[in-house]
Amino acid sequence: MSPTRLVLWDIDLTLVELRGLGMHWYRRALATATGTELVHEPPTAGRTERWISTEILAAHGLPTDDASVRGLFAALTEAVEADLDVLPVRGRALPGAVEALEALALRADVVQGLVTGNLVEIAKHKLGAFGLDRRLDLAIGGYGDASLVRADLVAAAVEAATTRHTNGFAADAVIVFGDSPHDITAARQHGAVAVGVATGHSSASELSAAGADVVLTDLADTAAVLELLG
Ligand SMILES: [Mg+2]
Repeated sequence: MSPTRLVLWDIDLTLVELRGLGMHWYRRALATATGTELVHEPPTAGRTERWISTEILAAHGLPTDDASVRGLFAALTEAVEADLDVLPVRGRALPGAVEALEALALRADVVQGLVTGNLVEIAKHKLGAFGLDRRLDLAIGGYGDASLVRADLVAAAVEAATTRHTNGFAADAVIVFGDSPHDITAARQHGAVAVGVATGHSSASELSAAGADVVLTDLADTAAVLELLG
């Protein structure tokens, strides 16, 4: 059977929790790449790494051209790679994340990929720390270097999935899971089904107000996750 459903996962606060580490890595990256101390911390929930990096550079009076942003990306990746042994200790897979990915991986009609603001290398490390990378196709991803705008990442992930599985995926056969209102609005902009997971900074009612088709308290109820796919 060719897969007909495409499930796209956000990472931070949807599948894994690494609270505190993100800005710690940016602090180190900004110092390494530019010699500047991080004093301005932009909001990160649902934002792409390109948006966050550009905001940080601008807020510190630094150039925001592509080369400068890429310099910060490289330093950020290094900062994460220096902390690989810390990830499984400081972080955790959120309740039900492993089980949800495993249950969906067993379905022949489903392909799983990512829509995440993370850079692909960092996404691999964050998932790999908890064994979550084995259940997803990392080649099917919209990643945070691609755009300032999260909706562009949904398009990139769908395009990657279509390249890999030539049957294509109807817009309403794409299901996006995420914890932030940006995840929801990006999904809805593409006509995808938006599933809010209230394990981040936004409440269930905030995710509903952003336009989520369904909101789950968390991923702990695997049957409820499967039920969303019919
Ligand atoms: Mg998130």
